[in-house]
Amino acid sequence: MSEHAVVVHYHEIGLKGRNRGFFEKRLVDNLKAVVDDRVESMSGRLLVHTDGPPEGFVLDAIGRTFGIASYSPALMVSADIDVLKQTAVEMMTSREFRTFAIAARRATKDFPLTSRDINVELGAAVQAATGAEVDLDEPDVKLRVEVVGKRALVYADRFEGPGGLPVGVSGKVVSLLSGGIDSPVATYRILKRGAKAVLCHFHSAPFTDTSSERKAEELARIIATWQGPTTLYLIPLGDAQQQIVVSAPPELRVVLYRRLMVRIAARVARTESAKALVTGDSLGQVASQTLANIACVDDVAPLPVLRPLIGDDKQEIVRLAEKIGTYETSILPFEDCCSLFVPRSPATAASIESCNAGEAGLDVEALVQSCFERAVVSRIATEGLRRTA
Ligand code: ATP
Ligand code: MG
Repeated sequence: MSEHAVVVHYHEIGLKGRNRGFFEKRLVDNLKAVVDDRVESMSGRLLVHTDGPPEGFVLDAIGRTFGIASYSPALMVSADIDVLKQTAVEMMTSREFRTFAIAARRATKDFPLTSRDINVELGAAVQAATGAEVDLDEPDVKLRVEVVGKRALVYADRFEGPGGLPVGVSGKVVSLLSGGIDSPVATYRILKRGAKAVLCHFHSAPFTDTSSERKAEELARIIATWQGPTTLYLIPLGDAQQQIVVSAPPELRVVLYRRLMVRIAARVARTESAKALVTGDSLGQVASQTLANIACVDDVAPLPVLRPLIGDDKQEIVRLAEKIGTYETSILPFEDCCSLFVPRSPATAASIESCNAGEAGLDVEALVQSCFERAVVSRIATEGLRRTA
């Protein structure tokens, strides 16, 4: 009797010594959240049990779960050489190929045959049934067998997982999500390192239309397919921007908007118990992303500001945006709050002193509190989402 399952091999978490149990548990929980609890930990790998051949949404969900190195739809049978031979022949006769190899491994050593013996026996059986040749170096199909205790897993396809660490093992961050290309990619990069991201989008409605909010929601939905249920804060900045316009020099507006965003995001971080902020800045990409301006922003940040894209070229960022599925949404037109009331040539080298002077006439604390209080918070569930992805 054979059963269907997806064999999941993990990534670096296998290497993390003392933390391993913690990481593995988080990976199991993250997987359970999307594949209905049918996850079993089995001697250094995970099994996701399915009723028949795994459906597309199950494979898709597994393929978006950080911490996974590779995954393979498999048949699980009893660890018995005759059963293995029969299974190998059945699986291989349903495929077209010229050359093949068998690659057996024993996770537990109580099986009476060595891995080599299994390779030879199954190889001979498959050869007899199909007439195909064995090629150990570059086979068209490699049939893998993993013997684990009284069970064995047999599979021929292996898909690459997203790698990284399971979301949640690195704690929580607040990611500043604009409607652009970069910040969703920055968020993805930090999720990949095991952080859970709360998303924070600033908009200028009613001074602008609501296109940026709708965009942020759509991007949040895509990010949720990578990290699971996602919290999104939509924060109105327009009134505060108006006050900055009245009291500070025009060329400082962009950097002062940014300083305000970072302070409000830090307020969100306090509420959410997040330990760092994340932005999509890439050094020198635009006027607001010079070292001088980054220094002005970080000067008012009460917690670390992580910038995963700081050394990336736009092309690399675009490529990743396409891969993770945010690009098409990011390039839709929208009214960006940062371009509201902004002169043609914003300062590229603002100084901390000039920023402080520009803010002298403002009650910054009150502005932060007022924006924070008017935030609209939504929780984007992944229930049903990954199923339809
Ligand atoms: P992006 O493509 O992410 O919009 P960008 O190249 O347009 O980035 P900026 O507009 O200078 O660069 O923004 C730099 C970073 O500041 C963004 O990546 C984002 O993290 C943050 N940010 C900018 N605008 C907003 C906003 N309206 N809401 C939230 N965060 C923002
Ligand atoms: Mg932008």
